[in-house]
Amino acid sequence: MSVVTRFAPSPTGFLHIGGGRTALFNWLFAKRHGGKMLLRIEDTDRERSTDAAIEAILDGLKWLGLDWDGDVVYQFSRAARHREVAETLLAQGRAYYCYATQQELEEMREAARKEGRPSRYDGRWRDRDPSEAPEGVKPVIRLKAPTEGETVVEDEVQGRVVWQNKDLDDLVLLRSDGTPTYMLAVVVDDHDMGVTHVIRGDDHLTNAARQTQIYQAMGWDVPKMAHIPLIHGPDGAKLSKRHGALGVEAYRSMGYLPVALRNYLVRLGWSHGDQEIFSTEEMIQAFDLKNIGRSPARFDFAKLENLNGHYMRLSDDDTLLRAIEAILPEIGAERGLASTFSPELRQKLLAAMPGLKERAKNLVELVDSAYYLYAQRPLKLDEKATGLLADGRARLAGIVEKLETVAEWNSQSVEAVVREHADAIGVKLGHVAQPLRAALTGRATSPGLFDVMTVLGKDETLSRLQDQLSGAPAA
Ligand code: GLU
Repeated sequence: MSVVTRFAPSPTGFLHIGGGRTALFNWLFAKRHGGKMLLRIEDTDRERSTDAAIEAILDGLKWLGLDWDGDVVYQFSRAARHREVAETLLAQGRAYYCYATQQELEEMREAARKEGRPSRYDGRWRDRDPSEAPEGVKPVIRLKAPTEGETVVEDEVQGRVVWQNKDLDDLVLLRSDGTPTYMLAVVVDDHDMGVTHVIRGDDHLTNAARQTQIYQAMGWDVPKMAHIPLIHGPDGAKLSKRHGALGVEAYRSMGYLPVALRNYLVRLGWSHGDQEIFSTEEMIQAFDLKNIGRSPARFDFAKLENLNGHYMRLSDDDTLLRAIEAILPEIGAERGLASTFSPELRQKLLAAMPGLKERAKNLVELVDSAYYLYAQRPLKLDEKATGLLADGRARLAGIVEKLETVAEWNSQSVEAVVREHADAIGVKLGHVAQPLRAALTGRATSPGLFDVMTVLGKDETLSRLQDQLSGAPAA
């Protein structure tokens, strides 16, 4: 049997990080077994589904590098087929018309509340003939679920989960306006799409019991199920925005690389010994359902940052530059940058990239640390740099004149001059280099100082020093 998984988001919001992980697990499992991952947009909630959300989900998946097989299936477009299955169940006596009014249902809920038990439909139309139907009530179609025995889900992650059928009421398949319920639509679609493995969040575990009853009523095979524990925040509470429950596109804008996010997500709830770093190929080879943990994974931003730093250092310079250019329209303006780099700045960034990528944990940080390459004179020093320069300004006295004498401007020649200067005034190199860096880059950290001076060139270096050393500081 060849494996078919599916990712089935509801387009009521962006692709959030938990959805990204569900998609990744489905994708990996399909790849691992040479199968397919299908994509189904569950847009049956017409009020809450939006085109913008569909767009964001597709973009998010593409950006994460998670491709799907075949065309996207839109659940709403299959409503006629869902209705047909409800009619079939009706014809087979596995479902029935229920004419209970809103008021009757409310009374059942109220009675349950009073007795402190969960509310369930009491089955009053199960065996009643529709000829007894009251005037003017449009019926719903309900599943005639078994009232005795158990419904069992043999879950690949949760193990054997058992429900007593007496606790599960007859669920609605078709609403009185003829629209299918979510429960029916999911089962019919998964069946028709040939899904063999349903991998999703464990908030759907109870639905799995309900859905199993529909499969059984239709005499269809129940797919294998794997319900993954949800992601929690570092404090153990359910993941919220405050913890990083953001849309995948927010991670892109924050400067994370898809390869890093994939690696981070695969370890959220799944493990393979102690291994933390996985190339995509390695995760495909190693992925399985049995090593998905049963307790909620905790979201850890610091770990994501470290992984991202790791993958940035591994990325080639051009790839990084392009990843920056992709988010530049979003992050450029507040840094005084246009939405594209000029060819000259591009050149400078590429030249400086080996040093820049060593330090940065994300692309935004990298762009900030490259400030010296695109800063307009006089530079605006940040707080730390202002402090360093204030402290070290006196140690730079006379250095401009010495640098002016350098004929061949390169990192060796400037280093020689700066070292001589430090020797001459009897301080360590760092005591000169720090204020110098502050004046030239506006920051307390930067790639190697002599490389910075080389990339800036002699004129720009001297002008920046003059800006900061003569007269009032610009910051
Ligand atoms: N559409 C559901 C959701 O977004 C998922 C349904 C399923 O995976 O069965 O939560």
